[in-house]
Amino acid sequence: MTARRKQFKTEVQKLLDLVIHSLYTHKEIFLRELISNASDAIDRARFLALSDKAIVEDDPVWKIRLAADREARTLTVSDNGIGMTAAEMERNIGTIASSGTRHFLEELQQSGGATAPELIGQFGVGFYSAFMVADKVTVVSRQAGGKTGARWVSDGQGSYTIEDCEKERRGTDVTLHLKEDMDEYLEEWRLRKIVKTYSDFVEHPVVMNVTRPKPGKEDAEAPADQGKEAEPEVETVEETLNSQKAIWTRAKAEVSAENYHEFYKHIAHDFQDPLRTIHWSAEGKTEFRALLFIPAKAPFDLYMPESHKRGVQLYVRRVFITDNCEALVPGWLRFLRGVVDSADLPLNVSRETLQEERVIRIIRSNLVKKILDTLAEMKEKERPAYDTFWTEFGKVLKEGIHLELGSREELQALALFESSKTDAGKYVSLDEYIARMPAHQKDIYYLTGDSRTAVEQSPLLETCRASDVEVLFLTDPIDEWVVQSTTSYKEKKLVSVAKGDIEIPSAQAGEKKEAREETETTFKELAAFLKDRLKDKVKDVRVSRRLTESACCLVSGEQDLGVHMERILRSMHADLPAAKRILELNPAHALVTAMNAMVKDSRQHLRLAEYADLLYDQARLTAGMEIANPVEFAQRVSRIMAAAAEGEAAPEAPPAATPEA
Ligand code: ADP
Repeated sequence: MTARRKQFKTEVQKLLDLVIHSLYTHKEIFLRELISNASDAIDRARFLALSDKAIVEDDPVWKIRLAADREARTLTVSDNGIGMTAAEMERNIGTIASSGTRHFLEELQQSGGATAPELIGQFGVGFYSAFMVADKVTVVSRQAGGKTGARWVSDGQGSYTIEDCEKERRGTDVTLHLKEDMDEYLEEWRLRKIVKTYSDFVEHPVVMNVTRPKPGKEDAEAPADQGKEAEPEVETVEETLNSQKAIWTRAKAEVSAENYHEFYKHIAHDFQDPLRTIHWSAEGKTEFRALLFIPAKAPFDLYMPESHKRGVQLYVRRVFITDNCEALVPGWLRFLRGVVDSADLPLNVSRETLQEERVIRIIRSNLVKKILDTLAEMKEKERPAYDTFWTEFGKVLKEGIHLELGSREELQALALFESSKTDAGKYVSLDEYIARMPAHQKDIYYLTGDSRTAVEQSPLLETCRASDVEVLFLTDPIDEWVVQSTTSYKEKKLVSVAKGDIEIPSAQAGEKKEAREETETTFKELAAFLKDRLKDKVKDVRVSRRLTESACCLVSGEQDLGVHMERILRSMHADLPAAKRILELNPAHALVTAMNAMVKDSRQHLRLAEYADLLYDQARLTAGMEIANPVEFAQRVSRIMAAAAEGEAAPEAPPAATPEA
C-alpha cells in the first residue's frame, strides 16, 4: 500500500524549527528522550501484561536496544513496549495534543528564543529532539496485541508520511538517519557514555551489541613457530549499558545530586534541575519509598486540570502502575514530580479502585506531612529559595488552605502575601505580619483585587496608610476562598478593609463616640438625599471612617459578596445578580461639605441629584467596577465643567507656576 503524506500541524512545525535551530548545546539529550519514551512504552506494556499475559508471550524480556549502522549511518532505538497504531502515531507525533504549546510559543516569542532549552522540556516535545541530530527519522511500530505495523517517516520539513508495514513483533523502532556531522552517535563509546550519564537508572536494560576480542585467546596454545600475526578473533556480545538501579531504592548517601537531577529530568521531562529533592522511606505498618521533586518552574498547564499527566508515579515493588492517581497526591500538590514505591499494594491492583485503597490513604497523609515539613523548613532556613517556590507554586498550595482541613494551619503558616508594606514581588507571612503589627492594631487586614496595582490605588487603604496599618494584598482568584477558610489566624481575626463598618485603629486615641455621632448628624440629610436618589443602586449611604483623601468609596456589607469575588463568580456564572453596595462619604472632603450645604437649599436639589449620580459612578470606578453608562457619565462631567466655567469668574492671572527645583 502507498504511503499517505500528511502535513504537520502548524504548531508542530514551529516547534520542530525551534528544536532544530535553537537547541545547539547538549544535542546528545535526544537519546535520553528516546530512551525515556521507550521505557514509558515498556512500563505501559508491562502494566497491560499484568492482566493479559498473552500480549507479551512472543517477546517476554523487556529491553531497549540501541543499534548503530555505520554503512547506512543510522542509529536505531528499539523497544518491545506498548507500540503505536498508525492512528496513534498521527496523534502522538504528528500533532501536539497539549494546549500548553500555544503558551510555549508565545513565551518563546517574548524571550526571543533565549530560554528555549528550559521551556522545551515542559511541553513533551521529547521525540522531536531527534531532529537535532537526524535529517530523517523513521518510526516503525506495532501495537501490543495488534496484527500489523505502521511506518512513519519525516525529514522534519513540514510533512510526514505514514503507511502500513510488516513488523514481526510488538514495540517501536525509531531510526535516525544522522546528519552529516553527527557521526559521533555511531560510536560505541559515545553512546555508552550518554546512556551512563542520562539514563543509568532507567529500570529496563538498555542494550547494545558490541564487538569484543574473543576472551581466552591469549591462554590458548598457539604453535610457537607460527611467524605472522593472526587476525584477533572477535565476537559480538549484547551488553547492558545502564546499571538499572532504581534510584529511589538506593540509600541517600549512595546517590549524588547529579544522579537525582538526571533522574528528575528523565521522569519529569524537564530540562532544568529541580528546586528541591525529597527522598525518604517509611517503615512500620505501611512501607514505602518516595523520591519526590519540586520543579524549579511551574509548567504552563498547572492550571489546566485536564492535563494532569506526569504527576507522581506510583510503583508497586518497582513495577510502574500509574502516574495519575489522584488519591495519592492531593491536587494542591500537583506540581510534585517523582516516584512512590509501595510494598504493601498487590501488583494487580486496579487503577480504578486505587482511590479506595487504605494503603494509598496512609501514603497520602505521610506524603503531605513530609512535604509540608520540608516546605516549613525551607521557609525557615532558606527564605530566598522558599520565596522562589512560592512565586511558582504558591497559588496552587493556597488551594490546600481551602480544601485540606487537616493541614489548614500549617498551610496558613506557609502562605506568603504581598502587602502595603512590601515591594512588588516581595512577601510577608502571617506570622511576620503579626510580629510587626503596631501595638494599637488587633486584627489582620486584607484587600482582595485583580492585581497589585489595582489594590494599591484603592481609596480603601487611605486610613490604613495614615495609621500605619499593614494591609495584605490578595490578588489571586483563589484568595477569595482562602479568606473564607481563614477567618482568623493565631487568634487574630482576618478583616477585609472593603467590608462592613470597620474602624481602622490609629495610634491616637480612638475617635470619640460622641464626635462620630455628631458628624453623622451633620451629614444626615445629605445621606438621606443620596440614599433616595440612588435607591436602586446602593443599599445605604453613610459617613466613612476609612477615607482621608477621596470623597467617597463603595464597600460591601459584612456578610455580602465582595466586589472582587462577585467579579470572579460572574466570570463563571454570567447571570449572577449584582449585589448592592454601601456608599461611604468622607466628611472631611470639600466636595462632601459642599454637597452638604447644597442639600439645605432645595433650589440646588436638581444639581445635587446630578452630583449624586456622578459621585456614585466615581465610587464604582475607584472600586475597579465598570460604570453602567460611560456616555452619560461623560456628559454629566461636561455639563458640570461647563457650569463651573460659566459660573466662576476667570482668575485675574493664572497662578504662578511652581518654580523648578
Ligand atoms: P512525551 O514523551 O513528552 O509525551 P514525545 O514527543 O516524546 O512526548 O512523544 C509523544 C508521544 O508519542 C508519547 O507521549 C507517546 O504516546 C508516543 N511515543 C513516543 N515514543 C514512543 C514509543 N517508543 N513507544 C510508544 N509510544 C511512543
